[in-house]
Amino acid sequence: MAVDPLIELRDVNKYYGELHVLRDISLTVGKGEVVVVIGPSGSGKSTLCRTVNRLETIQSGSILLDGRPLPEEGRALARLRAEVGMVFQSFNLFAHKTVLQNVSLAQTKVRRRKRDDADRRSLELLERVGLAAHAAKYPAQLSGGQQQRVAIARALAMEPKALLFDEPTSALDPEMINEVLEVMRQLARDGMTMVVVTHEMGFARSAANRVVFMADGRVVEDRAPEEFFTAPRSERAKDFLSKIL
Ligand code: ADP
Ligand code: MG
Repeated sequence: MAVDPLIELRDVNKYYGELHVLRDISLTVGKGEVVVVIGPSGSGKSTLCRTVNRLETIQSGSILLDGRPLPEEGRALARLRAEVGMVFQSFNLFAHKTVLQNVSLAQTKVRRRKRDDADRRSLELLERVGLAAHAAKYPAQLSGGQQQRVAIARALAMEPKALLFDEPTSALDPEMINEVLEVMRQLARDGMTMVVVTHEMGFARSAANRVVFMADGRVVEDRAPEEFFTAPRSERAKDFLSKIL
């Protein structure tokens, strides 16, 4: 696809001590693209996400955001973490802060917005994820699906260039999965660049531009969803799909 690259990994290698977790990963995510990453447990999917906003360092290769190498430290690194938002399996909300405060906090601290501006923006975003009515509640008063939607609103509040989702629905009860996926589908339709690690194959089929299949730290397949699901090329992918579908 002839789109501008936003995230580019070139020959990325990462080790945890002796363990070679990312092996010669080359991967490009274009602006507005939705890339779903799937693969067996331990294949390096979370590590891949974490290297992209530099929660982990790499030993060789390069990662570019919008054509520039990732910053190493200081304010530029804080800005990177805002520009590449991350949504985790565990929602990581502040328990002793309200929903509104959770969404506003980083805006005032990192983006240096005034409190009023931050709150106004937070309410708009909570509206967008269907939670404006819950702004004054505390996370524990919300369902898991609602908490994850707050976490998405919080990431959006930083006006990210891209969002990384690491198994955003894996900790949710089945009846809550769809409300979170629906918010993610809407973001995709609005043109957000997204990398999504998920086991939700329905989401991959309906929302992804590409599916990246990882095994043993490598990208084994990187293809359009319909091709990947109907005719996986590698034995690893065939085996994986036969277990989950
Ligand atoms: P996935 O998300 O695909 O399940 P991970 O990226 O979490 O895979 O892990 C890849 C490999 O790296 C696994 O073997 C895992 O045990 C190992 N690993 C992950 N995080 C660490 C860490 N902080 N220290 C050492 N090994 C790790
Ligand atoms: Mg993982």
